[in-house]
This record gives sequence, structure tokens and C-alpha cells, in this order.
Amino acid sequence: MGERNSPGPIVSIHLLQMPRDSSEPGTPQIWWSNGIFFLLTHLAAFVGVYYYPAWQVKRASLVLAFLAWQLADFGITVGYHRLYSHKAFKAAPGVRVALALLGSAGFQGSIKWWCLRHRLHHRYTDDPVHDPYAATNGLFYSHMGWIFYKPTYERMKLIERDDLDRDPVVRFQHEYYVPIALTVGFAFPPIFGCLWGDPIGSFVWAGLVSRLFIWHCTFLVNSLAHWDGLQPYSDEDTSRGNLILALLTGGEGNHNFHAFPHDFRSGPAFFDWDPSKWIIIALHRLGLVYGLRRAKQEDVSDAARYMHEKHQYGTLSESPTDESEDDWQGEIWDMDRLEKYQQGKPGKCIVLLDEFVLDVTSYLGDHTFNWAFHGGLNKHSRAANKTMRKLRIARFREGH
Ligand SMILES: [Zn+2]
Ligand SMILES: [Zn+2]
Repeated sequence: MGERNSPGPIVSIHLLQMPRDSSEPGTPQIWWSNGIFFLLTHLAAFVGVYYYPAWQVKRASLVLAFLAWQLADFGITVGYHRLYSHKAFKAAPGVRVALALLGSAGFQGSIKWWCLRHRLHHRYTDDPVHDPYAATNGLFYSHMGWIFYKPTYERMKLIERDDLDRDPVVRFQHEYYVPIALTVGFAFPPIFGCLWGDPIGSFVWAGLVSRLFIWHCTFLVNSLAHWDGLQPYSDEDTSRGNLILALLTGGEGNHNFHAFPHDFRSGPAFFDWDPSKWIIIALHRLGLVYGLRRAKQEDVSDAARYMHEKHQYGTLSESPTDESEDDWQGEIWDMDRLEKYQQGKPGKCIVLLDEFVLDVTSYLGDHTFNWAFHGGLNKHSRAANKTMRKLRIARFREGH
């Protein structure tokens, strides 16, 4: 994204066009350390369960295992996903630290590592090269195959990271991620287990087995939730919703709603199974989190109505995205004309996107705008496309 500043106070032109010269990356390297750790943890868990089966360990150790799974899961869903990746709400420092610690126990990388890849996933959903866990590369690959590779993500430079770099909690957790994860995930369970005289049972179940639950339940969001289920809001990508997944993932099952990724809920209905949302609401009532963001009801209803009609009648006479680019009846500008427009309007924010000039001044700070321009236009957002269409003021042609 390039930026040109003119004498006006906030005037800027943001160039958000996609690079068209991206060369295909070569075969990615195998990520040996990651793969070996992942496989060894599975092996250790199976050996541990063989020698310390559930009926031979203290019940408190099994309760701890369940809690360790759920708490790390909420660290991922509430913290890594909704707070940090999508900025769906803001949180007090204490909450951010707690979520960073819990998320570390999920052994899914640091917040920064996770969020950057997740933002790539949203921006290039289903793209076999640029989506880190593209469902189009197969169920196994999107579930866990991708973690055995260490590709260079060419489009990573287009992904917003300033907010992550600014946050001291994110910086600290990124720097000391390995010792933090090992302490919270592997050292705490046997220490707690000493309280009821079962450190080894606690380590096996709350340290090792719960790790497998955390991993595979989260991975199901990338695999199963892009494979099987309902699509009430969008069929522009493979994301789907299903209740089993919601039960296993702290409420991330309504994955088709990630057409509205900035929303702190995974669905608009209060009673959709979404404990992560209920936790955020509870923290909000306690004054610990604030700035909760919701998709515009109008956009959600539009998306749902569109999908309902499509299911009902098979085809639609009019789709919000069917309008051809060649139908543009307005003015065509070149860079000189654009700069002239900008100079006359101090304080305007002009965006150049996909060959169109957009005046987004009225949308600065608006949720829909931030969501659509989460480091660029996310691929799967029919409603965002609709909003962008409304803001067009001219078509752009270099040297016109
Ligand atoms: Zn997804
Ligand atoms: Zn997401």
C-alpha cells in the first residue's frame, strides 16, 4: 500500500490495488521443528493414556484437563481470533495479558504469528497459494497439513500489522512465546496435580491430551468449517456453519458469519451457541472490555435474504455483485485529475481500489469501512463490495 501526502491536513490517497506481477512461489520448505513437536506430542499423549488411562487417574486431573482445554480454547477464540485478528472489541491490559497467557497454552504460535496468517486467510480465502490453510488444497491440508510447511507468504506485506507491533502485550508474548507456552501448557498441570497427589496424571491429561483437543478443535474451524455445513450469509467462499463445531470450538462453529469478521459474535442471534460471545458480553458488563463491534443489521439481513432467495429460486435476477465493471457511466480520471480533486478538498480521504476512485471520508472510523479495509479488501464480503460500490466517484485510468 503506497501513500501520498499533500499539503492538506489528513489528505491521503491509499493505493490498495493488488500486485499483478506476483510470481508463483516455489515448493515451501518442510518445517521440521514444528512437525516433530506436533507428532511427538501426539505420541507422548497416546503413550501417557496407555499407562495412565482415565479410570486410573484422579478425577480432579480429568476436570483440570477439561478446564485446560476450554481455557486455552477461549484464549484462542476470544483473544487470538476476535480481539487481536479482527479487532472486534477492545480490552483492558489485564484482560489482554490473561488472553495472551491462555492462548499461549493453545500451542498455536504467538498472537502475532497467528493473527497475520489468519488475516491472510480472510483476505485470500480459498486461494491455494495465498490462503495459508486453503480448503481448496484438501481437507487434510487445511486441517493440519499446512503446519508442516514453512512457506514464504508473498502477500504478507499487504497485511496490516501495525496494531500488533504497537501492542506491548503482543510484543512480549511474541518474544517469549516458547517459554510462556511451555510453562502454561506443560508445567502448570503437574504443579496443580501435586495439590491432589496426581502430578503425572495431570500432566498426561491436562498437559498432553488437552493439547490434542485444543489443536484439533481449532483446526476443525479451518477444515470442517470450510467443508460441511450451512451457508446462510455467503457462498462466496467455502466457509460454512455447523452446530457440532460450535460445541467443540467455544462457539466458532457459525463460521459462515466470517463474512462479517469484525463482529464480536459468530452470529447475530443471541442464542446461537457461542460461549466466546457470552464471555465477551460478561467482561463488558464488568467494564473490562469495551468498543464491541457488530455488523450492521442491514448488511446481515441483506446477506441472509440474498442467500435465502438463492436457495429458494436457484438463481437471482439481480445480485449486488453482478454489476459489470464496464457499466460505469461516471467520469474517468487520471492521476492529475485525482490530485486536483484532492487538493481542493483538505481533510478528504481518497482511496484508489480496483481501478476506481473512492471517497471514503464519511466512512472513516466506521465499522464497515474498517472491516472492508482490514489491510485491504477481504475477498469474501459481498456486503463490503456493495458498500465500496456506493463510494465510487470516478474510474481511474493512468495517463488517460
Ligand atoms: Zn475460515
Ligand atoms: Zn476470522
